Amino acid sequence: MRTYGQFLAKSLLLSAVLAATPGVSDVFAADEESAQRKLKLVFFSDVHARTEWGTPDAMARAAAAMNAQEPNLVIGGGDLITDGFQSSAASVESRWDAYMAMHNALKGSVHSVIGNHDLVAAIPEDGTQPSDDPRSVFRERLGVDRTYYSFDINGYHVMLLDSMQIAGDRTKYQGAIGAEQLAWIKSDLKSVPRHQPIIIAMHIPLLTSFYQATQGATAVAPAGRVIVNNLDVLDLFRNHNLLLVLQGHLHVSESIRWKHTTFITGGAVSGRWWRGPWHGTEEGFTVVTLDGNDVEWEYVTYGWQARRPPDQ
Ligand SMILES: [Zn+2]
Repeated sequence: MRTYGQFLAKSLLLSAVLAATPGVSDVFAADEESAQRKLKLVFFSDVHARTEWGTPDAMARAAAAMNAQEPNLVIGGGDLITDGFQSSAASVESRWDAYMAMHNALKGSVHSVIGNHDLVAAIPEDGTQPSDDPRSVFRERLGVDRTYYSFDINGYHVMLLDSMQIAGDRTKYQGAIGAEQLAWIKSDLKSVPRHQPIIIAMHIPLLTSFYQATQGATAVAPAGRVIVNNLDVLDLFRNHNLLLVLQGHLHVSESIRWKHTTFITGGAVSGRWWRGPWHGTEEGFTVVTLDGNDVEWEYVTYGWQARRPPDQ
């Protein structure tokens, strides 16, 4: 059994070692508690819930496959429904109902970040009035007060971020973390110990190789596909143990290891918007197993055969 005295002694020793070797790697050194940390999480993204083409059946199967993983935590990566952005609230109610059937079938602690398709009536194209709060339906359906918040689970600090910024011009929206949220991240991190592993999740990627991998090495990502102020965000974590970044939006399964952080783009439950695989990524979700600072992950498919007709 560990006594407080032993714990303190080791902590002091560790502090002394760290003080003697300053640098980026400090915060990733194994701390006293890291050996006890273990977490299995499912990250599912881009469901694009709707009611046609047997998709409610697909979502039920996806939920069953996620439950079979017996995760401690389930995080949705946004775009829970499809086309909320340009639709009236009334016209996408049945899509929310379809998504919530999947959400409510999931076991354990379930959370989600907001995606561009989840902003309801942001810029309606059917002549109806735009919403003065396009996040309200998401908050009500998910039962959250705000679209960004944090919590602790199994020794990991989890931060869910709202990466959506409505642009209103031709681009309609862009990926960004606004000033208010940057200030919140800064203050939230004050109560997070330097060594504690942090997981952040958001819809739009902070870091991706998608454009270089699909369009060539000099390709530039559009503002609606990446977080335009990603360096401002990452800089806030420079003295913390940012272990894992979970991101959606691109519908491909990808991982990047930059410094000590693993960035995972989580594929899509809907694949190519219910038309089959997208750039080789099938309909599925990501399972991440964390053991201290070790990150293992795999992309799990749930065997869906797309039924969306090619002309729709
Ligand atoms: Zn999507």
